[in-house]
Amino acid sequence: KFITLEGMDGAGKSSHIDNILATLRNRGLEVVATREPGGTELGEKLRELLLHQAMHAETETLLMFAARREHIAEVIEPALAHGAWVVSDRFTDASFAYQCGGRGVERSKVEVLEQWVQQHLQPDLTLLFDVPVEVSVARLAAARTPDKFERESAEFFRRIRNGYLSRAEAHPQRFRLIDGNRPLEVVRQEVVNILKDFCA
Ligand code: C5P
Repeated sequence: KFITLEGMDGAGKSSHIDNILATLRNRGLEVVATREPGGTELGEKLRELLLHQAMHAETETLLMFAARREHIAEVIEPALAHGAWVVSDRFTDASFAYQCGGRGVERSKVEVLEQWVQQHLQPDLTLLFDVPVEVSVARLAAARTPDKFERESAEFFRRIRNGYLSRAEAHPQRFRLIDGNRPLEVVRQEVVNILKDFCA
């Protein structure tokens, strides 16, 4: 199975990755953990460019999908083919949220790239960590040195959040919306319950 983790910066996704992997591995599953942008040697080089280099929104989109093509061919498909589970910290839903919602690239262009690069590959389960924009912005301000995306305005994050939420609405079978604006332990327990249901 292919599981993806999504959410705006500051929504809490990173706080749950280790627990998600442990929950699945404790059930005896072989799990490959990976991330986007990145996940391969080339992908990690592209990630450096994507996070720190200013560029046209469509260039950014094309590089995201170039990294994704490599990621699918080198990591995701081989793992799934030999029966492992794959957990990816972000995947194509992030392009709909960030490149379409945030940066204003036409949805139809991203849909073409999605079809081109993924063909029939789609996540089986997507955990979307969601918090109000104000919470995300406050957490980022407190937490770390921002990359170029994180220096954007609250309005940028509002568009990203809306991009994610409309993606979740369009794909209700695979999305689970998780309210990240609750104590860590409460969110952690909900995530475990979702995974147990999914594995059952
Ligand atoms: O999830 P992570 O923090 O590693 O993502 C790195 C940065 O890349 C974040 O600021 C995220 O918002 C951004 N990003 C993006 N478009 C994507 C994926 C990630 O702008 N498709």
